[in-house]
Formats: sequence, structure tokens, C-alpha cells
Amino acid sequence: MKKLVYESPSIQKMNTGLMNKFGTRSEYEPVKQIDGVSVHTMMAQYGSPLFVLSERTIRNNYQNAVRAFSTRYPKVQFAWSYKTNYLNSVCRIFHQEGSWAEVVSGFEYRKALGNGVPGNKIIFNGPEKTNEELEMAANNGSLIHIDHFDELFQLIELSDKLKKKPRVAIRVNMDTGVYPMWDRFGFNYENGQALNALTKIVESGKMELTGLHCHIGTFMLTTNAYATAVKKLGDLAWKCKTQLNTPIQYIDLGGGFPSSNTLRGSFLPGTDSVPSVDEFAEAITTNLLGLGFGTEELPLLVLESGRVLIDDAGYLLSTVLANKRLSDGRRATILDAGVNLLFTSFWYDHKISPAQDFTQHTEDMALYGPLCMNIDVVRQSINLPLLNRGDKVVVHKVGAYNMTQWMQFIQMRPNVVLIDEQGKTHIIRESETLQYIEQPEKVPEHLQIINV
Ligand SMILES: *Cc1c(COP(=O)(O)O)cnc(C)c1O
Repeated sequence: MKKLVYESPSIQKMNTGLMNKFGTRSEYEPVKQIDGVSVHTMMAQYGSPLFVLSERTIRNNYQNAVRAFSTRYPKVQFAWSYKTNYLNSVCRIFHQEGSWAEVVSGFEYRKALGNGVPGNKIIFNGPEKTNEELEMAANNGSLIHIDHFDELFQLIELSDKLKKKPRVAIRVNMDTGVYPMWDRFGFNYENGQALNALTKIVESGKMELTGLHCHIGTFMLTTNAYATAVKKLGDLAWKCKTQLNTPIQYIDLGGGFPSSNTLRGSFLPGTDSVPSVDEFAEAITTNLLGLGFGTEELPLLVLESGRVLIDDAGYLLSTVLANKRLSDGRRATILDAGVNLLFTSFWYDHKISPAQDFTQHTEDMALYGPLCMNIDVVRQSINLPLLNRGDKVVVHKVGAYNMTQWMQFIQMRPNVVLIDEQGKTHIIRESETLQYIEQPEKVPEHLQIINV
């Protein structure tokens, strides 16, 4: 008989599974498979920790979002936000579905070109664009979204040596009733800066004004903010048409729809509290159609949704390294995946499920990662069944921002696996090696020989 693991006794308040002051009890069922593929088998084959992405979920999310908007408005185009997850296989799934690319740096711009996206279907956002990058984007006919006056003047200066008139839009920031206001990007609506920039663009005669853009925030919890954004951009669109004689072709509302993750400290889980894509679509399209444009001149609606399309398609599989008691008696469990791989644990209470059968006893515990760093906390407090060394867990809804904001600190990044729609697994990014990490390093001559 296998020797049982000794657990020192501790006194715990009974937890009957009802809602308590920490919210709901999290786990009733183990999660043993993802899209029909065994978690344990994948971990045996590809190692631990391991990122897993579901192609089926990505495509479903995308198709649902397109349906929500295109059934309510005749001209809709999505553009995949590269920074949310720019693994090429992920980007290509979105591009196969018909999504354009939305990039915020020259590096991301080149990635989009490398994935085969035609230049005129790349939206180039962000506060930093070099002369060389602006030239490349202009000559490719990309949609350049101007962030500040200095960039506007930079483009005017460049325009004489360009092969094509750059196609431009401006990013607009505004008060949508959600605070703190994101006013560091783009031109402000309320103080007249945005209209001033539009006027300068048109009067310069050096650019083709094509659209208006905003990205009012991220994980927005109210559809009203988008209704306000549509009205304010709509007002600018009217002014472009009537005062500047330059009708715009599209209104780009950016991203910002929330995924169903639970924000840290929320009482209700995200699945119960965030508005659906349909609710955002309803608020946006109703207000767009109410702007007063004729059917023929309705602007194209562009959306740059990121997290809502991919968060729930991503899983992080991890192994329990150890259990311990903290000085106050609380239980702590140490996992082999920490904030190096799970940047979003700084603002989400990620749902975490054991990947094998467990007993009915649960306990409030802290979950830590493997880093030698005090802030490496995956969950400050979570109610879970007791986990033993070697047990596996599944961290849910990690598809957005973790595979771009992960850091190579103390540990290297693990394999990323995609489960295709037939249930076949593919490595889409290999785990890093020491050689890969050290490849750009140079050791000067006088440090070649050491003396220990
Ligand atoms: C990050 C970003 C997005 C995507 O935002 P989500 O909140 O993930 O939907 C879209 N547009 C711009 C300009 C961004 O910076």
C-alpha cells in the first residue's frame, strides 16, 4: 500500500460550498482534458509547465464576434491585435478567418508582413514609428494611425520622398465616463485637439485622411462607454464631411471588450458580471446607425478586439512542486509556473482546476510560482482541494497577453502547443534553451578566462 502523505492538523472553518466572503468555492470537478486531449498525456509529451491553445475556441470566439456585429451593421472588419498574442500560428488563425492585422510597433508590423498580411490590411498604431517604418507603411498603403502632433509633422516632412500619399487616421481620446481616462494616446476630443489635427492633415494636402480611431481602455465593464465613443467620433466624422470636405471611410473603435476572467478582488466571477460581445455590438451599432449617415456613406466599422477573442482559448498546465505551511498556519502550494509566465495574475483571479480526481476536503490556500521572488504569487487566496507534490493543475483563460508579456527571468519559457480542430497537437513555439538565451551575448576578451 502506498504510504499516505502526512498532513499536520489545522483548525479550519467549515466550508459548505455556499458563497462566502471570498466569493464562490471554485472547483467541483477535475479538468482532465482540453478539447478531448488528455492533460496528463500532453504534459508527459511536452513537459511542464506547458501553454495550450485551442484552435476551436479561437475560431468560435472570432466567428461569434463577427456574427454579433455583422448581423447588426452592414460593414464590419476585425483586425487582430498583435500584442495580445503574436505567436505566428495564432495570428494566422485570425488571418485565415479574414481578420486584418493591428500592430503597435515596427517589430509587430514586420511580423504581420511575414504572416502574409497585405500592407493595405495592416493598421499601424502606437506612439513610436520611425521614419523608416512610416515610409514602409506608407508605401505599402497601410493605415497609419497618428498618435501625436510630432508624428503628424514627421509624416508631412517625409511625404515628399514617399512613393504614395500616406493613408492616415488619427487616434482620438475622450471622456467616455470611465476613469482614469486614457488620455495619453492620441488627440483629445473635448479640448478641440482632435479637430485641429484633422484640419492640419486635410490642409497639408500631403496625406489621405481615411478614418478615425479610438481605443478607450481595456477590460471595459460598461457598454455605455462605447456608445459615447461612437457619438464623439461620429461628431468628428460629420465635421470631416461638412467642414473639411473630406468624408472618412471608417470608424475604428479599437479593442477593450472584457474576457470572462475574474478581476482580482471581484465578488462575482467574470462569467456572471461582464457584458457579452452581443451587448457591446448592440450599443455600438445602434449609435452608429443613429449618426445620420445615408446607407451609401455609412463608415466601415473596424474593431481591434484582443483579449475577448483569445483569453479563454489559452490554458497553462503546471505541476505541484511542494506544499508548506506559512508562519500563520495557512497552507501554501508551490507550482512550477509563476508570474514569469502568468503576467495576468497581477490583475486576474485566474480559475485553477486540479487535473486529477481529488477528495472532498478543501482549504483556503496561497498558490506560489517557482521564482525566488516574493511577488511570485499566482493566487493570494484560493479554495482548492489539497494537492500533492507531482499533481497537475490547469490554469484557465490565459490566452491574452501572457504569451507576449511573459518574461525570461530565472526560468526559460516553456513549449506552447496548439490543439487543432481535429484534436491533433502541434508545438507552435518550442521551449527555450540556454543556447537561445545566450545567443546575443558577447563576453569581452579580458573576461574569457575566470579564476575560481
Ligand atoms: C491593446 C490594444 C488593442 C486590444 O485591446 P484588448 O483590450 O485586448 O481588446 C486594440 N487596439 C489598440 C490600439 C491596442 O493598443
